[in-house]
Amino acid sequence: MQVSWQTLAQEVASCQKCALCAGRTHTVLGCGDYHARVMFIGEGPGRVEDETGIPFTGAAGHLLDELLLGAGLRRDEVYIANIVKCRPPQNRDPLPEEQQACLPYLRAQVGLIRPKILVCLGRVAGKALLDPNLAITRQRGQWIKRKAFWMMATYHPAALLRDADKLPDARRDFEAIREKLISVAQEDGA
Ligand code: URA
Ligand code: SF4
Repeated sequence: MQVSWQTLAQEVASCQKCALCAGRTHTVLGCGDYHARVMFIGEGPGRVEDETGIPFTGAAGHLLDELLLGAGLRRDEVYIANIVKCRPPQNRDPLPEEQQACLPYLRAQVGLIRPKILVCLGRVAGKALLDPNLAITRQRGQWIKRKAFWMMATYHPAALLRDADKLPDARRDFEAIREKLISVAQEDGA
């Protein structure tokens, strides 16, 4: 049976299913439109997100907002979540067992929203959701149809902050997301 948003939020807020619970200030479930056609999946909360409880509210988040606008989207028109809901210490990659412990929550979110498009932001989300052997530089921007979803991986905004040479490719990926949204809306007759 599908859980409700309320149950899910309560479960995550008190979750102790992995060791990351020890270091968190706030859990970060997700934010945005419960009826969004597109979901963006990051890695896990950073320092600012751990403080605010809202995903992508630090420097990487500002860049994500700008990339979204490039795709004609505002943050409140999409849904944004992460692979793990609690901040890993020193922002290290979440461990495989931490990701496995947390993934049921993301699956529940996808089940509630039932988006048409899932975008993996960066290597960690891409490996967890698309392909364990994903090479982000080579495979970013490629659409894959998985069950009911169109899926794509693109660079993580934090990687773009470190290397601005990647920005043009990222902007192309967001333009492709805009086009895919138009084509799925047409398929729906919406
Ligand atoms: N990086 C992520 O992967 N997720 C966030 O929410 C913030 C930074
Ligand atoms: Fe629970 Fe996920 Fe936080 Fe681990 S990261 S304690 S599984 S909510």
